[in-house]
Amino acid sequence: MKNKSKIDTKCVHGYDYRESTGAVSVPIYQSATFRHDSLDEGTGYSYSRLQNPTRQALEETMAALEGGADAIAFGTGLAAMTVLFECCLSPDDHIIATEDLYGGSIRLLRTIVQNNGVQVDFVDTSDIGAVDRAIKKNTKAVFVETPTNPMMSVTAISSVAQLTKKHGLKLIVDNTFLTPYFLQPLALGADIVVHSGTKFLGGHNDTLAGFLVLRDTNDAERMRYAAKTIGACLSPFDSWLLLRGIKTLAIRMERIQGNALEIAKFLAGHKRVSRVNYVGLPQCKGHDIINKEASGYGGMISFEVDSHKTVRSLLEKVELISFAESLGGVETLITFPSTQTHADVPEAERERRGITDRLMRLSVGIENISDLIEDLKRALE
Ligand SMILES: *Cc1c(COP(=O)(O)O)cnc(C)c1O
Repeated sequence: MKNKSKIDTKCVHGYDYRESTGAVSVPIYQSATFRHDSLDEGTGYSYSRLQNPTRQALEETMAALEGGADAIAFGTGLAAMTVLFECCLSPDDHIIATEDLYGGSIRLLRTIVQNNGVQVDFVDTSDIGAVDRAIKKNTKAVFVETPTNPMMSVTAISSVAQLTKKHGLKLIVDNTFLTPYFLQPLALGADIVVHSGTKFLGGHNDTLAGFLVLRDTNDAERMRYAAKTIGACLSPFDSWLLLRGIKTLAIRMERIQGNALEIAKFLAGHKRVSRVNYVGLPQCKGHDIINKEASGYGGMISFEVDSHKTVRSLLEKVELISFAESLGGVETLITFPSTQTHADVPEAERERRGITDRLMRLSVGIENISDLIEDLKRALE
């Protein structure tokens, strides 16, 4: 049933859980351990680091949404990636990653992963030729984020997948920005999908979570083993919050996208705004690829204002919109990437990539669009 239904139905009914009391909402199994009746009899559950019924319902939902063989839930997105890199990469292996990656992912690759003896190269993966040229004898994986944070550069997943298949590499996609509601990387040829569940999936700026979704059952088995060994699993309560968040993913994403399009158009026509990066705008470089591979544009916008003075006054004057890090929730948030999310990127590299002291990033929420535009209009005056 769940495999045949449409994605918005899967958001609500993505798991097989049946409760003997008839409870419609999956209960929060706040239990660390599970009793066995005898040496040969068990319920399938023993200890919540390994399995927990609430987390299992969430994992089934994520596997159904992304079309994977299995999904594993973690305490954060970075915990998911740590387990992933631990499983995929050994000393002297090489990984290629999108250069305009989430700041925390860059930090993980540049410190823990590199310190383990893995070679890491950051390339512009929107340029397929550049990815091809970066492949070496010891390359094991290509890690793609699309659209990127904060420059909204778009990578054609199916083109990269042709390369990774040819060379026998794993293609990993961070699908945090578009979510399975708009983009399904496994169907386009990716092997593994990574998520920060903290963002659109949870959707309410109230909890941290992360996911790995695996196309291949062997990968799933190895990663489940690493997940239980490392112990970075999602708690029963946070699993429930994620399940609850995902139930409204479809309607939130539609509303967020509608608001984002209006805001992007408003910003593009404002005299203090010199550039708008939103993949829903036809003038955005990745627009055509998104139209081919995804079913929507999401809610992330970055834009450049005329001076750093405007940045300061905008951040001070917004009232409805909060000046805060993170993204993907029902509340509209504005951030300043160069000293917030991307502070760890060296200044010269930030400048080269366009992460200047005039660049702002918006995560559009579900508020009324005229209130949001009014807030921006007043704050930009
Ligand atoms: C936030 C984020 C992460 C990291 O996730 P956490 O849940 O904060 O650990 C990874 N990738 C992207 C694109 C993100 O936005």
